[in-house]
Amino acid sequence: METVNSAFQYCDQLVRDFEKVITTPILNKSSVYYTGVDLGTAYIVLAVLDENYQPVAGAYRFASVVKDGMVVDYIGAIRIVKELKQELEQKLGVELIYAAAALPPGTDTLDSGAIKHVVQGAGFEVTNVLDEPTAANAVLKIQDGAIVDIGGGTTGIAILKDGNVIYVADEPTGGTHFSLVIAGAYKMSFDDADQYKRDFKNHRELITIVRPVIEKVSSIISRHISEYPVKEIYLVGGTCCLEGIEDIIAKQTNLPTYKPQNPMFVTPLGIALNC
Ligand code: ATP
Repeated sequence: METVNSAFQYCDQLVRDFEKVITTPILNKSSVYYTGVDLGTAYIVLAVLDENYQPVAGAYRFASVVKDGMVVDYIGAIRIVKELKQELEQKLGVELIYAAAALPPGTDTLDSGAIKHVVQGAGFEVTNVLDEPTAANAVLKIQDGAIVDIGGGTTGIAILKDGNVIYVADEPTGGTHFSLVIAGAYKMSFDDADQYKRDFKNHRELITIVRPVIEKVSSIISRHISEYPVKEIYLVGGTCCLEGIEDIIAKQTNLPTYKPQNPMFVTPLGIALNC
């Protein structure tokens, strides 16, 4: 239990610092800046760290350029990453040169370098392309257990043993499905439902409505970890912001389930740490 707390201490502090610099960048005189580019189904996030790997700036934008871990709008993706890069460069007063990117688990053979080319096309020198769970674990620092990344389009699962990723999977159920269920239940447009879902005030009421989707995610997790001696689950990804999701997953999988204070920015920060 102590390991869990100390891991989240680092993670929570890093994410808190990052949230602050999204609104107020830190203009320091770093000799080098490291940028993590997270091209997600729902959001594109850029996280900038200084030479001491401390967050100094960040930006994100809602985008539909990636589907099931694949870039489906290549030009649109480059445009948005370029715009976010320029926005951050203006705020920091420096050119951002180096960036790392990440691939959802299990898509490295399908991707054919598209994500790397997007980041290069936006003007970065790509220093690393890693898998998302490894990125997340640079922040969580878990030795053993399963990291479950519930993003916009997919649920990624990575099993760790002695700090190394030994199994990965990615399945198409994520926040989009939650929003679709809410849209249907409340007769709202998808965009309104997604916005309603992101408001923490509505979580208590929504948890019963999206419970079947959480149970589906839980059964995906259980299926993938069944062959491994997983004793704990660690949640990351924007969908895990939903209050109470961890309790349902814990109950359904019968495993202690933990999440950091803000699970949304763990992966982009981990990507930047690996730049
Ligand atoms: P993927 O990992 O599937 O490629 P992504 O990287 O874009 O997608 P994230 O940024 O981790 O995914 O999460 C996006 C999802 O998180 C969206 O469905 C969004 O609606 C949801 N989300 C964001 N904030 C909240 C919140 N406060 N409460 C509930 N859901 C949220």
